[in-house]
Amino acid sequence: CGIVGYIGHRDAYPIIIKGLQRLEYRGYDSAGVALYDGEHINLAKTKGKVEDLRQKSEKNISLKGNLGIGHTRWATHGIPNDVNSHPHYSNSGELVIIHNGIIENYESIKQELTKRGYYFESDTDTEVLVNLIEEIKKTEDVKLGHAVQIALNQVVGAYAIAVFDKNKPDEIVVAKLGSPLAIGIGENEFFIASDASPFIEYTNNAVYLEDEEMAIVRLGKEIKLRKIKNDAIA
Ligand code: GLU
Repeated sequence: CGIVGYIGHRDAYPIIIKGLQRLEYRGYDSAGVALYDGEHINLAKTKGKVEDLRQKSEKNISLKGNLGIGHTRWATHGIPNDVNSHPHYSNSGELVIIHNGIIENYESIKQELTKRGYYFESDTDTEVLVNLIEEIKKTEDVKLGHAVQIALNQVVGAYAIAVFDKNKPDEIVVAKLGSPLAIGIGENEFFIASDASPFIEYTNNAVYLEDEEMAIVRLGKEIKLRKIKNDAIA
């Protein structure tokens, strides 16, 4: 399973597809990509290989966009199929997430969110997490990074995640516990990946998140790693 993300001045799609291919060695059963083209999020996902994703994306969606995230899934909750593949939207369609790992207490969170009117299209633990983030963002009236931090403090499990909000397309929020996550730092561009192989030709400057760390990867800002448990989000 693997994660790739890009935000900057280049087309995100080729970086993501090539990056996912380089992460294929990690094993997976499905793949997906979400791109933000300045107006909409365009999303393609499929059971099968990255090559199947490439064909499906190139046939079905606009490949424009300087912001994007891509994923290879190794199913833990919900069978490998197109719907359970990542990325996953929140109910509003504004947030989109990719996740490697397991949210162990997703059932109880799902029940609580269902009571509050949320619905779920997939059987994944991941779709529960993105809606928890959305609910916190709305009810606590906080920014995405802060909502992610609060959500992860309620979660038991393991994760590498990347999430963005289409209303704030200058940032991707990432966090890690258990699964690996690296950030490649370029000239006013950032790469996110499970290891450095997807961005090795673009930059030598990489930071690796430790367990229980998160970062707001924002254009024009320095990367600052924060502890999910303790640090206040500015
Ligand atoms: N638990 C998530 C799922 O089953 C993520 C699996 C993975 O690590 O790819 O969808």
